[in-house]
Amino acid sequence: MGQNNIARRIQVQGIVQGVGFRPFVYEQALKNHLTGWVRNSSSGVEIEVNGSPDGIEKLISALSNHLPPLARVDSLQVTEIQPEFFPDFQIFSSQPQPGEYIPISPDIAICADCQKELFNPKDRRYRYPFINCTNCGPRFTIIEDIPYDRPFTTMKGFPLCPQCTAEYKNPRDRRFHAQPIACPVCGPQLNFIAGGEEKAAGEEALQLTRKWIRQGKIIAVKGLGGYHLACDARNEAAVAAMRNRKKRSDKPFALMAFDLASIKAACEVSEAEEELLLSRQKPVVLLNQKPANGIAPSVAPGLDTLGIMLPYTPLHLLLLEPEAGYPDLLVMTSGNMSDEPIAYIDEDGIKRLQPIADAVLNHNRPIHMRVDDSVVREERGKIYPIRRARGYAPDAVTLSQDVPQVLATGALLKNTFCLTRDKYAFISHHIGDLENYETYRSFKEGVAHYQNLFRITPERVVCDLHPDYLSTRYALEFSQEHQLPVLQVQHHHAHLASVIAENHLPVDEQVIGLCFDGTGYGTDGKIWGGEVLVGNCHGYQRYAHLAYQPLPGGDAAIHHPARIALAYLWNEKIDWDEHTSLVDSSLCSADRSILLAQLQNSINTPQTSSMGRLFDAVSALAGICAETSYEAQAAILLEVAANPAATGRYPLPLKAGVWEIEPLLQGIIADLYQNDSKAEIAGKFHNSIALAAIEVCEAARSQSGCSAAALSGGVWQNRLLLRKTVSGLESKGFTVLTHHQVPSNDGGLSLGQAWIAANAEFTGK
Ligand code: ZN
Ligand code: ZN
Ligand code: FE
Repeated sequence: MGQNNIARRIQVQGIVQGVGFRPFVYEQALKNHLTGWVRNSSSGVEIEVNGSPDGIEKLISALSNHLPPLARVDSLQVTEIQPEFFPDFQIFSSQPQPGEYIPISPDIAICADCQKELFNPKDRRYRYPFINCTNCGPRFTIIEDIPYDRPFTTMKGFPLCPQCTAEYKNPRDRRFHAQPIACPVCGPQLNFIAGGEEKAAGEEALQLTRKWIRQGKIIAVKGLGGYHLACDARNEAAVAAMRNRKKRSDKPFALMAFDLASIKAACEVSEAEEELLLSRQKPVVLLNQKPANGIAPSVAPGLDTLGIMLPYTPLHLLLLEPEAGYPDLLVMTSGNMSDEPIAYIDEDGIKRLQPIADAVLNHNRPIHMRVDDSVVREERGKIYPIRRARGYAPDAVTLSQDVPQVLATGALLKNTFCLTRDKYAFISHHIGDLENYETYRSFKEGVAHYQNLFRITPERVVCDLHPDYLSTRYALEFSQEHQLPVLQVQHHHAHLASVIAENHLPVDEQVIGLCFDGTGYGTDGKIWGGEVLVGNCHGYQRYAHLAYQPLPGGDAAIHHPARIALAYLWNEKIDWDEHTSLVDSSLCSADRSILLAQLQNSINTPQTSSMGRLFDAVSALAGICAETSYEAQAAILLEVAANPAATGRYPLPLKAGVWEIEPLLQGIIADLYQNDSKAEIAGKFHNSIALAAIEVCEAARSQSGCSAAALSGGVWQNRLLLRKTVSGLESKGFTVLTHHQVPSNDGGLSLGQAWIAANAEFTGK
């Protein structure tokens, strides 16, 4: 111990585990001739250093200024301690404390260093499709149990070779303690299966896949969180065949490009969008298409956007490696029949994908957690999640205060669940539509898995008000089995609470919630969806809503916008026969008389105040979309059709808290008779909704004093409406809260449910 030596204890919080933080500290300690140790603790990383004041100063400064790429320091606490003798500086292994949890990393896209090695002929992992390191690679999808160590991952069947072991044990190596590392000698391998037989392995399997795709075939490719179906995105015959075999109707397919240049050739890419594309999550980003970009029309029928992502695994990079004559853009859509969850288990995947794919590019690294690609959009420089999955889950959403442990079971469609503890809401990856048995099973398994990983034992359970949601039934069973209190929360109240929770609003502050979506069970047993709620997590007042309309056939109506339009006209006493030439003729006269009888006798025509259905009705009325093959298609096409610069609006008067839609429908009909273009009508309709939303907020503000407006619900995925509403509200002095961490659609619902339940009974005490 030198004369002037001092000692410090440093406690670091933030993203500091599983990101190469300890080796970084080790490196800094050696550089500055410090002794002591570093270890993971339950709340972050603890360091004890002895040495010169100058050396310690340099270490502390490095901790704030030169971090490893994935690390983030939120707080740094330095305390003076008595110097002690240590022969050297050491990395101590971590001991998990009972009841404590260690954050679990999402899967991370391949890093720049690994990408360099992948294409370096001199590297021992040259062209090895499973290359990874401390800074990248699979995490959440391969973790079976905690602590996060190789024996508890699906890499347990691949013992490290001596060279990999040496890297794993060397604190100065980029692969120090990287659990999933592997190499061609000891790690997973590819194989190519066609006609039920293995045709090739390794590099040959890869090349065969590339060749088949180039020839227009469809290949199921096992990736990180499941199987994709891949084909050449510029080959219309191949894409159409995939659409046909997948029974996917018109729902757009996601694409993958080797690099940014290929994306920019096909789409407009803003700076913020570029950042999202390149982020370590590598989500699918929705981008505006460039005209005549050569993408097969069947990729995204009728849409002006494309969902594109960059390769996030070494395998994807190799698959898309540029070569003359080979496609630069691949369709990479979830490997499933429509409505089913993505396939992820080998035998199951191969069996289920056989009718769709000509061959399978498989590998033998098992996937423990099925995770879909995330889908996001950028608006005014900010991220808007549409599907939160790979790369984001299971990262927690941080809450504004500590909460009890809650299980929230979410919605029926686009389900996610949410578990809370301390200040964290662990909102699950996108599970899917629980109507499907397979999806429901993965929901149940998911709940158990998250409980185990994050050591959460729910003290209370919360779910939707809808009695028939499988997520509701599960919550009721769970609460009974574990004797826990259960809370049923109105759907749009949960939407409101979701946007409040992620924006860290004070719990008692009231906001004006514009909760616009397709469907949510109301407290009056009707279907809500065009709702203005004033409230907070403790409760709400239904300030305004769209006038109730009959929904012929209930939920099934969403496939038939023309029927919705006719039902709305009938309900508003607008004679549809008089306007036969206007309202789409997809319904023959026999269908029309059946519909009329159904409406007159109120047979299966539940009442709805849904905003989504109003978009459907208008889309059909304007002759844009009469029949749909996927959710929200009519509304999406209405937005695509709209002239964003259209001026004018249709009247949507608010009387005693109810928006009357008759004048709006009459206005559209009048414009149709004047032969106004679809673009003008669609544009004016968007104006009408945005202006009505802004005006209702002004009215609610003068009555309640609230000056914050919160936007939640799937309708806000409509960019045009979002833009017009947000800019209008801001110009009127409102603070506007929107979703940036969870989707505004039902994928974000569980967070709101959890926030309501967490604060129930607890506040005011
Ligand atoms: Zn790496
Ligand atoms: Zn090895
Ligand atoms: Fe909803």
